[in-house]
Amino acid sequence: MSKIPMKTPLVEMDGDEMTRIIWNMIKEHLLEPYIDLKTEYYDLGLVKRDATDDAITIEAAQAVKKYGVGVKCATITPNAARVSEYNLKKMYKSPNGTIRAILDGTVFRAPITLPCLLPSVRSWQKPITIARHAYGDIYKCTEYRVPCPGKAELSFKDASGQELFHETVFDFETPGVLMGMYNKDDSIQSFARACFNYALDTRQDLWFSSKDTISKQYDHTFKDIFQDIFDAEYKDRFDQAGITYFYTLIDDAVARVIRSSGGFIWACKNYDGDVMSDMVATAFGSLAMMTSVLVSPDGNFEYEAAHGTVTKHYYKHLAGESTSTNSMATLFAWTGALKKRGELDDIPALVSFADKLEQASLSAISAGFMTQDLALLADLEHKTVLSTEGFILKVKEFLDAAA
Ligand code: NAP
Ligand code: MG
Repeated sequence: MSKIPMKTPLVEMDGDEMTRIIWNMIKEHLLEPYIDLKTEYYDLGLVKRDATDDAITIEAAQAVKKYGVGVKCATITPNAARVSEYNLKKMYKSPNGTIRAILDGTVFRAPITLPCLLPSVRSWQKPITIARHAYGDIYKCTEYRVPCPGKAELSFKDASGQELFHETVFDFETPGVLMGMYNKDDSIQSFARACFNYALDTRQDLWFSSKDTISKQYDHTFKDIFQDIFDAEYKDRFDQAGITYFYTLIDDAVARVIRSSGGFIWACKNYDGDVMSDMVATAFGSLAMMTSVLVSPDGNFEYEAAHGTVTKHYYKHLAGESTSTNSMATLFAWTGALKKRGELDDIPALVSFADKLEQASLSAISAGFMTQDLALLADLEHKTVLSTEGFILKVKEFLDAAA
């Protein structure tokens, strides 16, 4: 059987611990036998990051900018314990944070859904994708614990030092709390474009919500920027694609999301996205079934699993015990990236192979073959719990049987 050829290389970012093991199994059993896999390989495992003083992470992000599509394995974000465990030169920043800053991207998280995995919300039939604006607001705020009575003021001076704005925030008669936060037009614009592009790319409606009725400058600016960019740059393309852009108050959005049947993208401000993505992920079932893609406003895509390196399972693996770690989100990161590469390079065989591979994995689970985490959730009469590798080999059986 001849392998599917590729044109442009895929930027491959290897990672750490259990997901690094899964990464190799997916390549060995599910990709390399079928595809003439062309990747530009970057090892973002902690050992290599330390050896290169983290330069490898920056090089990988630049490669995604150059080629347009990357796939990333989960990586350790070091804390103090990791610094001693790996004898690191320093406490490196999160690779995802570094990559996101270089690509100026927005993260879209979508669950992998299956009829046997019933969401807690009965009406949800299709995935709900959450787009979170990962810049500014309370995550970059200045806070103060007010200790005594006094006056809090908000002031803005332009670059020449002239005061353009000055207002009393509050006359404190007792102790209290105070916060100053900000955002930037260009960041909101990038976020809006990433959302509109992703909606077009996946042919799903886009919702955006904020609290503009209460926050008449701050949140209203978000609303206006989205609307202006939509009208000027995207309205025609949305009409052609048969999808809609819809703005509503965050309260109304929450109520509508719960009543909906899913199948749309919900763009959220930073805090709303942080909170709502955890709610949506939990209601859909499992973090192990959540995929994630970073989309830059100029159209670069980086696919990954939303979960981490599954450290506890890795230590079991090192101790020689059998593991049952779910590879679905990592597999869908690969298929997402291969499909995108296939679309951009006009290789229909690559796109349809990635579709078949996804279908094979879904069929395996629907037939009752799954890892431990799903066995606890799946609404099926007969379930067979497989090991990490056992599940991947079962997917291969389904893939070969479908060919
Ligand atoms: P985690 O790796 O997501 O795992 C947390 C727990 O969730 C696991 O112990 C496991 O529960 C369950 N789980 C997650 N993924 C699973 C899968 N594929 N199959 C089965 N169960 C799964 O989070 P963590 O333990 O907090 O973090 C571990 C490391 O990952 C950290 O060093 C962190 O820095 C890194 N991290 C990386 C990323 C990323 O690169 N995107 C994201 C988050 C965390 P049970 O033990 O109960 O089975
Ligand atoms: Mg959160």
